[in-house]
Amino acid sequence: MEVIADLHIHSRFSMACSKEITIKGMESAAVEKGINLLGSGDFTHPLWLKEMKAELEKVEGAGLYRVKGSGSGVSFIPSVEVSTVFQDHSKTKKVHNVILTDDIEKAEALNSALSKYGDLSADGRPTLMMSAAELVETVINVDENAFVFPAHAWTPWFGVFGGMSGFDSMKEAYGDQAKRIYALETGLSSDPVMNWRISANDKYALLSNSDFHSLQKMGREANVFELEKVTYGSLIKAIKDKDSKRFIRTLEFYPEEGKYHFDGHRNCNFSADPAADNGTLCPVCRKRLTIGVLHRVNDLADRPLGYTPKKAIPYAHIVPLIEIVGYVMGKGTYSLQVKVMRDALIRSLGPEFMILTKTPLESIAEIAGNETAEAIGNVRSGRITAIAGYDGVFGRIEMLKRSEEKAAPKKIKQPTLSSFLDGKKG
Ligand SMILES: [Zn+2]
Ligand SMILES: [Zn+2]
Repeated sequence: MEVIADLHIHSRFSMACSKEITIKGMESAAVEKGINLLGSGDFTHPLWLKEMKAELEKVEGAGLYRVKGSGSGVSFIPSVEVSTVFQDHSKTKKVHNVILTDDIEKAEALNSALSKYGDLSADGRPTLMMSAAELVETVINVDENAFVFPAHAWTPWFGVFGGMSGFDSMKEAYGDQAKRIYALETGLSSDPVMNWRISANDKYALLSNSDFHSLQKMGREANVFELEKVTYGSLIKAIKDKDSKRFIRTLEFYPEEGKYHFDGHRNCNFSADPAADNGTLCPVCRKRLTIGVLHRVNDLADRPLGYTPKKAIPYAHIVPLIEIVGYVMGKGTYSLQVKVMRDALIRSLGPEFMILTKTPLESIAEIAGNETAEAIGNVRSGRITAIAGYDGVFGRIEMLKRSEEKAAPKKIKQPTLSSFLDGKKG
């Protein structure tokens, strides 16, 4: 069966996360999205783990969990993101990693091993004073079935390849434990096409997850598998043995929409396309720009843009339905009218992923009007205009060709380096 999985998420016990994230809330959001396999998030946090134990039950023989007594079809996989902080050649490195396991009892054993390196109750995504290599070794020593992969591999400060404190290769980051890394998470600001430019990454499965901090953002990226039986073992096998054709597709943000695509300075309201090759200094404050994901990919790439490896796993770009509806209505995604329309679409047409990728546009138009159908069609076919994000500022996607006055109200003009130079000249 087709399985849509979002494996990296957060509970309300992680910093800057919505207080509304509960296990039952996650289950209903997953049903609306069409997700059948969801990371639990934050299993290292004692209070969240307590909730997991109280509210989840084992799916017998699957190495997965479900809400007690529920027939929703949503399975949970114990997961957590941890931040490893360590010194490498006298430089401080911070690498975020996701850990998956098939058993809450093993999660508890992992917690007791990891608690030696940091305070697990301080944050749902704990900071551990250990190297990324030590993390992998420690985790696998406790639980040989656990699965570790680098989170949002390209983000500037916490990505294994990040432009501000990252490494140039898995081997540099994970040392002799690199052999136990089978996948990397591409993150919101990069997509498979960008990752395919680095031949050293061919051996890794490219995972896409939402890393959500509120339920609304669940599944903004996800992985699609074709599994005979939905079990932890078959999921991990499909990832490790990525050429087996069990890992069939990823659903991706347009990478420009991610908040670290271009270089830039949020406070200076300045962004730069690294392709313009104008250096890495901010023309406003004269300090080093936050180096974005595209810049790092360009640095490490040994292939031209557009190169597709032979065994590449396909992908489709998506924009969350609530964003599309909000864009068409010219209203924010938290507006009640937007939510009502999104809910009506899902009630009539089925889960969000179905609407975004498969539902005939005529059926969408009948419920939400022609513009919404057209916007979804444009997202499917890539007929969009993207304004790239930078230094923590999300990018924007224009999904319809609109005249200026009809365009979304919050149009922020981003200065470019050339506009600054022009300004100086003038
Ligand atoms: Zn992270
Ligand atoms: Zn600046």
